[in-house]
Amino acid sequence: MNHLRTLVENIKQPLQRQRLAHMQIQRSLAKSGQLTQMSPDAPTALTKTLNNSQGVCSICKGAGFLRRNVPFGHADFGKLVACRCKEQELKSKRRQQLAELSNLRIFAEKRFETFHSEVPGLQEAFQMVGEFAATPTGWLVLVGPNGCGKTHLAAALANACLENGAVVLFSTVPDLLDYLRATFAPTSDATYDQLFALMREAEMLVLDDLGTQQSSPWANEKLFQLLNHRYNAGVPTVITANPEGLRATDARIRSRLSDVRLVTTLTLEQAHDYRSLHTARG
Ligand SMILES: [Zn+2]
Repeated sequence: MNHLRTLVENIKQPLQRQRLAHMQIQRSLAKSGQLTQMSPDAPTALTKTLNNSQGVCSICKGAGFLRRNVPFGHADFGKLVACRCKEQELKSKRRQQLAELSNLRIFAEKRFETFHSEVPGLQEAFQMVGEFAATPTGWLVLVGPNGCGKTHLAAALANACLENGAVVLFSTVPDLLDYLRATFAPTSDATYDQLFALMREAEMLVLDDLGTQQSSPWANEKLFQLLNHRYNAGVPTVITANPEGLRATDARIRSRLSDVRLVTTLTLEQAHDYRSLHTARG
């Protein structure tokens, strides 16, 4: 549990600092009248950041944030959005925060290059997961018995996407729910919301071992909210499960997973115990 506490603290502190910095910027800009208004579609209309001769962003005048130009009473009234010049910095922060949660260090050797694709029955899966990692679109579900190599493929995919610069979260389902539980306290609502938003908005979410989590109404609901959001948005998501775990999964999630318009399901056979093979050959 110490490890979990450290991880949550590592997430919490930068998030709180970000929020504080955000509030401070807002206050000082409001005072100086420097905060720039923009029309709601301005961020997408801009194709590049224009720097003036002093190297200061000419869109936000160096503030990093813009206030949405919407009438009083609008849901976004007074809300700050990141300027294009700030987006890259924020993205790299999200990447860092999720990388810490992902703990991919222990899966560092699980790469496509180290996968034993010569094992009978794994060639097709190896190729499909590799293609998915290169151009992630839709969802990919890897179903197979324990020890068939699906975690190696999922981790290899997460490592590849991370190296391609994406914001990636790789987690087992039980760990993911533990992180959420650890922040889900009356005193840390904001942190919970921010952590949940980070998970929801990750450019690539890889969930290992669906169905091995302890089932509870709270856990089922959180997992459903997370996956339903990503399902509706069609954001790249990869899930591994063994057949029993899949059968035990919340019916609402199973129904999302059976949508062939979005989801590709790959069934891995267990011709050999992939894990023992991998260990034996290093
Ligand atoms: Zn700017």
